[in-house]
Amino acid sequence: MTKKICILPGDGIGPEITAEAVRVLNALNLGFELETALLGGAAVDATGNPYPEATQKLAREADAVLLGAVGGPKWDALPREQRPERGLLGIRKDLNLFANLRPAILYPELANASSLKPEVVSGLDILIVRELTGDIYFGQPRGIEIREGERFGFNTMHYTESEIRRIGRVAFEAAQKRGKKVCSVDKMNVLETTQLWRDVMNELAPEYPDVELSHMLVDNAAMQLVRAPKQFDVLVTGNMFGDILSDEASMLTGSIGMLPSASLDQHNKGLYEPSHGSAPDIAGKNLANPLATILSVAMLLRYTFNLEEAAGRVENAVKKVLAQGYRTSDIFEAGTQKAGTKEMGDAVLAAL
Ligand code: NAD
Repeated sequence: MTKKICILPGDGIGPEITAEAVRVLNALNLGFELETALLGGAAVDATGNPYPEATQKLAREADAVLLGAVGGPKWDALPREQRPERGLLGIRKDLNLFANLRPAILYPELANASSLKPEVVSGLDILIVRELTGDIYFGQPRGIEIREGERFGFNTMHYTESEIRRIGRVAFEAAQKRGKKVCSVDKMNVLETTQLWRDVMNELAPEYPDVELSHMLVDNAAMQLVRAPKQFDVLVTGNMFGDILSDEASMLTGSIGMLPSASLDQHNKGLYEPSHGSAPDIAGKNLANPLATILSVAMLLRYTFNLEEAAGRVENAVKKVLAQGYRTSDIFEAGTQKAGTKEMGDAVLAAL
């Protein structure tokens, strides 16, 4: 059966970078059916709804979704319900995407882009697996009320063992495809919820004898990520800790235009997108770096379709263009060759 990929270019630089990623997908000639729909501000302009029904239908029936980015100043004054970001939250919830995968890779050629010393980060390749639909971000009860004559704010942290188990499995399975190490991050010395997290991770470990499991408290993990980040392969953690650690890890690489991401459901259906936003400041100028979106295609091939060889081809093509010296303006340095969005896409296609 033909596999379908839903393409959502979105706003700002979204259409430019997804166009290059689609060229890469087509060049691989894997027989996918691609269909494009509207999300975010572009959808608001056309239909009044940031996640219109036609997009919902296509996203639900597709095997995977490739997204550019949404948002921009044009839509910032709209009521909350009509903001482009609502479209993004809407599709994540609609598709039950509970596992967020964010690699932080630093190619040796870009080691100077990091704020850390090149020897600390050069060759860095870690994957943060963040639980996306539970934890204190969604727990009830929550609120701000008056208690005993003063304002009182409260939230509830909770996880069921099945929620922990399913994200744990994603991490172990991802590690099997990589360096075979999982570090589970918690705060078990203070929070019972995360004691359960640690217990369930330990219970899962014997099912993956080829993967080495370790544990780390979140405060130490934050420190180790800047002290010696190359000690990690896969890091798995809950929604709140993952929110913070994945941003910290992505900044180790210093180049936002290079970082892909995946959000998966229970059947490895996924939404794939660059980690950056719609960059309205450079939209329409052929300046955006398309590599994060092209690398998101590699993740799509690997995680939804299990096409490891094709994923590796895309990643190697990206490595090759960096080694050849091509740089978009966000990663440009003296002595390299400046390329626009399209030229970078051309170079990747040539390397493929
Ligand atoms: P941003 O990531 O869009 O831009 C931050 C900076 O990085 C800008 O200077 C931009 O030019 C640069 N940049 C980002 N991607 C780049 C690329 N591929 N190549 C070269 N340079 C790149 O973040 P922002 O400015 O805070 O947000 C802009 C808009 O994007 C807002 O409307 C925000 O809500 C939205 N946003 C969307 C997503 C998403 O769609 N997932 C994520 C974050 C922000």
